Amino acid sequence: MSQPLKPETICVQGGWQPKKGEPRVLPIYQSTTFKYETTEQMARLFDLQESGYFYTRLQNPTNDAVAAKIAELEGGVAAMLTSSGQAANFYAVFNICQAGDHFVCSSAIYGGTFNLFGVTMKKLGIEVTYVEPDASEEEIGAAFRPNTKLLFGESISNPSNVVLDIEKFARIAHTHGVPLIIDNTFPTPINCRPFEWGADIVVHSTTKYMDGHATAVGGCIVDSGNFDWEAQAEKYPGLCTPDESYHGLTYTKDFGRGAYITKATAQLMRDLGSIQSPQNAFLLNIGLETLHLRMKQHCANALRIAEYLEKDERVAWVNYCDLPDNTYHTLAQKYMPHGSCGVIAFGLKGGRQRSIRFMDSLKLITIVTHVADARSCVLHPASSTHRQLTDEQLIAAGVQPDLIRMSVGIENVDDLLNDIRQALDA
Ligand SMILES: *Cc1c(COP(=O)(O)O)cnc(C)c1O
Repeated sequence: MSQPLKPETICVQGGWQPKKGEPRVLPIYQSTTFKYETTEQMARLFDLQESGYFYTRLQNPTNDAVAAKIAELEGGVAAMLTSSGQAANFYAVFNICQAGDHFVCSSAIYGGTFNLFGVTMKKLGIEVTYVEPDASEEEIGAAFRPNTKLLFGESISNPSNVVLDIEKFARIAHTHGVPLIIDNTFPTPINCRPFEWGADIVVHSTTKYMDGHATAVGGCIVDSGNFDWEAQAEKYPGLCTPDESYHGLTYTKDFGRGAYITKATAQLMRDLGSIQSPQNAFLLNIGLETLHLRMKQHCANALRIAEYLEKDERVAWVNYCDLPDNTYHTLAQKYMPHGSCGVIAFGLKGGRQRSIRFMDSLKLITIVTHVADARSCVLHPASSTHRQLTDEQLIAAGVQPDLIRMSVGIENVDDLLNDIRQALDA
């Protein structure tokens, strides 16, 4: 086809193009193993001299079809599915960092990622420095060291709704000769495509909007193929020098723009597992088929509710970047002009206790530890997902103690507004 396909078409048809007589719908390859005719054929796979499936801990055809769809949506060259968003973030960093290395990260990120980077990866000898995402290029640049290997941020942060200046972050990363990794979970590639603004690698918790029905935990890593590892060869020996565990092949030389994902599959999946189950990949693919329709509805509903909350005098503050008076509205207009996502953060006058009473009074909108699925829900991060953080860390992550995170679903918005009204009255 001469014209590149539009996102809506990729959502529905990307990744799986059956040949004559094959199933129209992507099948679940519920098999741990794959058959070959000769020992020699199998040996070539183990040496990465040929691509093919041999064991589902490393690769599975159902997963690869879904990963290909997500890669196409993001405009990347290669992708892999992981068992969770946490696994995706861990692999994305660990693929190019080892003990003694350092990376720089926006402080406005998901609580689980904050712990993974600051606590668990520290135990592996990898150190992170958190920076204010709105700080100047000079201030953020000052956090870099000779052993810094990457810069990381969330396109829209969970749950503080900070919109990242992706171009600024890409400039800082590239000035220091490292890639920019963006967690693009909240806007999804339907609303924001970080590669177009200079990001090098994108990660997702597919558990959220991509799945969209709260059925399967999963993650994804997408590589743009644009970062020139060879130009920084001394920084990335894992990619640019021979891998003795594969008879001395060198990922950048043997796989070109596919080097980063090939290494993550061949080394990290081989050694650590954490692959998405084919069953979950199948569910994820069904979710992706309607992603474009759902994101529109999430955004339209969320904007109506944010406007309503902003006008109610019992509401202390509302943070939703599609509101014109929001601090991040200009950045949102630039990076996601058709809408951001369905997640609103707000607080009620009367603080933490009042916010909790409001949440307990909601009927249609339920309290769950989740965001970004078809059903509307609320969460109080300070007493749940961000419980481990001190008050100081909470503020640094942009999470006020009274913050209510409302994930607006795709129900009829008038029903949602009625529920909010009765809970405010309660
Ligand atoms: C949920 C989430 C994660 C973690 O993903 P899981 O699938 O829950 O492991 C990472 N980043 C962001 C932005 C998230 O919202």
